[in-house]
Order: sequence, then C-alpha cells, then structure tokens
Amino acid sequence: MPDRVAIVGTGAAACGVADVLDDTTHEVTLFDKARGVSGRAATRRKHGCRYDHGANYAKPGDDDRFTEVLESFGDDGMHDIEEPIWVHDVDGHVQEGRDSDEHKWTYEAGITQFAKRVLDATDATVTLETRIEEFDREHGDDHSWSLVDVDGTRYDGFDAVVLTPPAPQTTELLAATDWTDDRLERVRDAAAAVDYRTIRTIVLHYDFHEEYPWYALLDPEQEHPVGWLAREECKPGHVPDSESLLIAQMSPDWSVAHYDDDTESAASDAAELVADLLDDDRYRNPDWVDSQGWRYALPENAADDADVRAAEDAGLYCAGDWVVGEGRVHRAFENGRRVGQRLVE
Ligand SMILES: Cc1cc2nc3c(=O)[nH]c(=O)nc-3n(C[C@H](O)[C@H](O)[C@H](O)COP(=O)(O)OP(=O)(O)OC[C@H]3O[C@@H](n4cnc5c(N)ncnc54)[C@H](O)[C@@H]3O)c2cc1C
Repeated sequence: MPDRVAIVGTGAAACGVADVLDDTTHEVTLFDKARGVSGRAATRRKHGCRYDHGANYAKPGDDDRFTEVLESFGDDGMHDIEEPIWVHDVDGHVQEGRDSDEHKWTYEAGITQFAKRVLDATDATVTLETRIEEFDREHGDDHSWSLVDVDGTRYDGFDAVVLTPPAPQTTELLAATDWTDDRLERVRDAAAAVDYRTIRTIVLHYDFHEEYPWYALLDPEQEHPVGWLAREECKPGHVPDSESLLIAQMSPDWSVAHYDDDTESAASDAAELVADLLDDDRYRNPDWVDSQGWRYALPENAADDADVRAAEDAGLYCAGDWVVGEGRVHRAFENGRRVGQRLVE
C-alpha cells in the first residue's frame, strides 16, 4: 500500500511537497479552504482586468528546482517584468534604485498559474472549498491521521499530514487536535512564536494610461503609508491598453488602522496618498477600486527548526514561508520540497 499523505493548503509550500512526492508511490490529497489553488500568490479578474493582489511576482530560488519547474512549462504565458523597481521615501521622493531582482516572473494569466501548473502536472487530488478544522491521530495499531472539515466531514487513513497555512492558522489547527503528545506542543509553540506583518492591498483602476520608467515603487524604510506601488499594465494580458491598474500594498501601520474600513473609503484614502506620491491629481479619482486584507501577509521571523520538526517521526509535518522566516514564493516552494524529501526518506 502506498503511503497516503494529506496536505493542508495549495500554496507554494504545498506545491513543493506535491512536486517531490509525485516521483514516488505516495498518494497525495491536498485540501484548501479557498475556491482556487495558490494561496497568497493570488490573482483576481474584474472588469476585463487581471491582477496579482498578493505576491506580485516570483524570483529565482537558491534551489534550481524552482526555476526548473517554472521553465518546464515553457514560456507559454510566462512573463519576466522588464521595467525596474524604484524607491520612494516617507516624504514622497522617488528615485532609481533597489532593483536587485534578477528576474520578476509572473504569467499573463496571473501568478496563480504557477501552482495550477505544478499541481496539474502531478497525480495529486485537490479538494477545494474544504476548510480543515481539526485533525486526530487514530489510536490502536495503525496510528493514521484523520482530518475533519468545518462541516464535520472526516477524511481518514493518512500516514502523514503536512500543514502549510500561515503560522497563526497552523497554530489554531494544532490547538484543535485531540492528539495529546509533548511533540505536538513543541510544534504548536514553534508556530505560535512566528509573527506576521499585516498588509491591506488596495487596487485602483484608471481609464487612462501613463508611462513611467518603473514597474513598481518600494519604500525600503517602511515609513510611507504606501509600502509598495506596482503597475499591473507592465504585465501583458493584465490590463487593456490605455487603462491603468495600480496595486498599492499599504504599510503595516496603515493596514492595521484601516483593516476593517469598507473598500470604498479605504481606497479613497489610499488614492489620495498615491496621487500625492505620484504628484498627479488624476490619481485621486479611480474609476473602480478593489481591496484584499492579508492579515497574515509576511512572516517577521522563522520558526525554531528543531521544534517545528519535533513530530515528524509521528507523521506530522509543517511547511511554508514561516518555517524559513521569509515571505517569498520561491522560499515557500523550496521549504515544501525539503519537507517532501524528508517524507520520502
Ligand atoms: C500582499 C503580499 C505581497 C507579496 N509579494 C510577494 C512577491 O512579490 N514575491 C514573492 O515571492 N512573495 C510575495 N509574497 C509572499 C508570498 O505570497 C508567500 O510567501 C507565499 O505565497 C507563501 O506560500 P505558502 O504556501 O507558505 O502559504 P500560502 O500561500 O498562504 O498557502 C497556505 C494555504 O493554506 C490554505 N489554508 C489556510 N487555512 C486552511 C484550513 N484551515 N483548511 C484548508 N486550507 C487552509 C490557504 O487558503 C492557502 O491556500 C507576498 C505576500 C503578500 C500577502
């Protein structure tokens, strides 16, 4: 009998696990509470536009496999953003610099293509719109794991479980299990010790197009309320010609203060800040807006490696950007691959 592995999540880390296990006899099932795969590397479509409102692009990893996987799908719809990243400061001064990323990869159909393509290339079963609420370790001889979703449906008989939600959500899951074992407590404490930065993404659409020498502006000091401002029109297939769609990732302070504001009022506030930053009054009046709150956007620190792995001998694994302490698609994928390799061993 092949080992049965359950993965909670379908983001980059889960894709890394599934990518490794695809070359083995393991039978893999992924569960995600969302309607689509890919987690925080997210794309939305609205009014004829497509925009990446979580991770904006991926860059090459230290592990060649990430680049290899990206390239294995050919250049079908893959795009390397050519325009550079410039910087701005708290006073709104904009200048050249800080484009240290060799590649800025995304897809014409959006960054979710990465997860879609990785998972489509495997034999894994993907179960969407299934929020896992608790899991148990069966007693008796087989010691298998069961997952239970919010509707009370049980998924039994897994030899291993890999948890990939952001650390606070993984902590909740770990607190909701019946398994009483010191190892579980160690893993839970390791996840609970990871803090996350909150980001509210504001989407501003305009019916005009303006040329700039940059793709995005970044505030490296993190003092300006607009932490990151990107032009989705630099990605082919995202914004019709002669329109403009700005992705404003607001600073953690601004995001926390405005987290519960309705989209219209948060976007109106953000549009004022963007107009001031770009020194152009036209940006005060977007013709439509959107927003997404990412309460757990980017990890601030890494989990203790020994603690997070404390229950692996019992078949309980964790993977994700928080395990490595860096909010990056390629880092989450690489971490997932390392977990996959340990599972195989
Ligand atoms: C605003 C923003 C901008 C970013 N910009 C970049 C960037 O430009 N470049 C870059 O490389 N990285 C960027 N990142 C970081 C990058 O998106 C993440 O580091 C990476 O996607 C994390 O992948 P993951 O698999 O660890 O977690 P996730 O992608 O969060 O995957 C976890 C999955 O678990 C699912 N889940 C959670 N709880 C449950 C449950 N109870 N039951 C079932 N499913 C559950 C979620 O729906 C999700 O799909 C950005 C992130 C944000 C939020």
